[in-house]
Amino acid sequence: MTSSVIQPADIREVAVIGLGLMGSGIAELVGRSGRRVVAIEINQTFLDQGMARLRASLDKAVSRGKLTDTSRDEILARIRPTDDIPAGVAGADLVIEAIPERMELKRTLFDQLDEACRADAILATNTSSLSITEIAGGTRYPPRVAGLHFFNPAPVMKLVEVISTVLTSPETAETLALLSRDLRKTPVQVSDRAGFIVNALLVPYLNHAVRLLETAQATREDIDKAANLGLGLPMGPLTLLDLIGLDTSLAVLEVLQAEFGGTRYAPAPLLRRLCDARLFGRKSGRGFYDYRHSTPVAHDPASAPLPAEVAVIREPDGRLDELARDIAAAGISVVPQPSPETGLVIVAADPEHRVLDAALTVGHSADVVGIHFIDAGDGKRGLAELVLPDVTAAGTAAKATALAVKLSLDAVTSRDRPGFLTEALAYAQFNDAVRMFQDGYASPADIDTAMMLGCGYPRGPLQMLDDAGPARVVSVLEAMHAATGDQAFTPVPLLAEYATAGIRFRS
Ligand code: NAD
Repeated sequence: MTSSVIQPADIREVAVIGLGLMGSGIAELVGRSGRRVVAIEINQTFLDQGMARLRASLDKAVSRGKLTDTSRDEILARIRPTDDIPAGVAGADLVIEAIPERMELKRTLFDQLDEACRADAILATNTSSLSITEIAGGTRYPPRVAGLHFFNPAPVMKLVEVISTVLTSPETAETLALLSRDLRKTPVQVSDRAGFIVNALLVPYLNHAVRLLETAQATREDIDKAANLGLGLPMGPLTLLDLIGLDTSLAVLEVLQAEFGGTRYAPAPLLRRLCDARLFGRKSGRGFYDYRHSTPVAHDPASAPLPAEVAVIREPDGRLDELARDIAAAGISVVPQPSPETGLVIVAADPEHRVLDAALTVGHSADVVGIHFIDAGDGKRGLAELVLPDVTAAGTAAKATALAVKLSLDAVTSRDRPGFLTEALAYAQFNDAVRMFQDGYASPADIDTAMMLGCGYPRGPLQMLDDAGPARVVSVLEAMHAATGDQAFTPVPLLAEYATAGIRFRS
C-alpha cells in the first residue's frame, strides 16, 4: 500500500490500459517524459490501431519540426505494446486506465489489477463521469486508487484533474499531482463528485445552448457566434457539442442530473432527439451541423434592402451615439424619432429588460430592433446583439442584419428574452461556478484554471464574472428567472451576498 508520497523520478514504469482516443495520447505523453510505458489493449487488432495512432501523432510532431527522428525512435523504444494485461501491469509503478466509459468494464479490469499489480502500485482511472469511489470501493487497496482526468488531446491540453475519493490516501493524490507537474501539466485537486470541475461547468452550458436553439432564441450559427465572439471562447457550444459527441454529453448530463437534480442538468429534449436519431456530431457525420456536405449559404443578409431612414433613439449615457454617426456616415438618414418614412427604429437593448417595453414607448413597434454591444474591453464595441421583440414585422430582422453588414458590425440576432444570447449563456455558467465554490468543492482560482486550461477560456468564469460585476450578473440572472420561471437561473446565495457586499471572487 502507498504510505508515502512517491517522487516523480521514482515512477519509472507506467502501464496505460486502453489505447483509444485518450489512452494513445496518455501513452505518448508518458513516453515523451522518459518513462517506460506498457501500452495495453484487449487484442492485437486494437493494439495495432492504438500504436498506429500513437506513431502517427509522433510522426506529425517530427514533420512539424517539434521532435527529432531520434527522439521519436527513443520514445517508441520505451513503449512496450501488449495485449496481456496481467503480464503488462506486473512491473508498473502506476497504472492509468482509459478503457470505455462503462462501470462493469472498469470494475472487471480493477479486479484483474488487484490480482496482477504490485501492492504499492497506484491505480488511476481517466473516467469522465463514473463514480471513482465505486470503482475504488471494490478494490483490495482503495487508498491507492484515484482519478487522473486528462483532456483531449492528452499530449496538448495542459489541465489534469486529480480526483480523490473518501478512500484515497493523501499521499496517492499528492503523488499524482507531482507527477502531473512533471509531465508539464497543471493539476487541480478535487474530490469525487459528478463532472469534477470542467464537465460540471461545461456540459450544462452546452445543454443551455441547445435549449436556446430549440426555443428559437436564435439560429445555431448565431448561438455559436455569440459564444465565440461575445465571450471569446475558442468554439461555439453547438460546434463543440458536435466535436465532443452528443451521446457523450448526454451521458454526462444524466450523471449530473442523477447527482444534483434540478432543471439545470435536465437534458434538452432536442439533445435527446438527436441522439435517438444517432446524429452524434462529427463522428457520425451530422449533429447540429452536417459534416457530409458543405452547407450552402441559405441567405445573404446583405442582399436585403437597406432602410432609407433609420430612427436611433439616443440614450442620455450616449450609448448609441457612435452607432448613429456610423449610420449617417454610411449615407443613411438618421432621425431622432420615427416618422412614417422610417424603415427601422433602433433602441438601446439591455439584457435585464425587455426591448418590447422600449418599443411600445417609442411607437412603430413593428419596426423596432434593440441593439446591445458586448464590451470588447478598453471601451471598444464588440459583438452586436440585434434583439427582436416578437411583435416586430417579418422583414425587420433582415433590415437590421443588412444594416449591420453595411456597417461591418459582427452581429447576431436574438429573440427578446432576458440575457439575450451572450449573457444568458455566460451568466448561467458563472452562477454554476459560484455554486461550486459555495459548496466548498473548488477554489475560485482552481475553477478558473480548470476552465482556461481544460476548455481554452481566455479568462476563467469567475474572473469574467468579476469583470462584468457581480451585481449586474445578479440582476440579469433575476430577469432570466422571472421570464422563464426556471429555478436554475436564481442567483446562488453566495453570488447574491458578494453582489450586495461589493466583493469580488478573484481579487
Ligand atoms: P475509446 O473508445 O476511444 O478507447 C477505449 C479503448 O479501450 C478502445 O481502444 C478499446 O479497445 C479499449 N478497451 C476496451 N476494453 C478494454 C480492456 N478491458 N482492456 C484494455 N483495453 C480495453 O475511448 P476514449 O474516448 O479514449 O475514452 C476512454 C476513457 O477516457 C473513458 O473513461 C472516457 O470517459 C475518458 N475520457 C474521454 C475523453 C474524450 O474526450 N474522449 C476525455 C477525457 C476522459
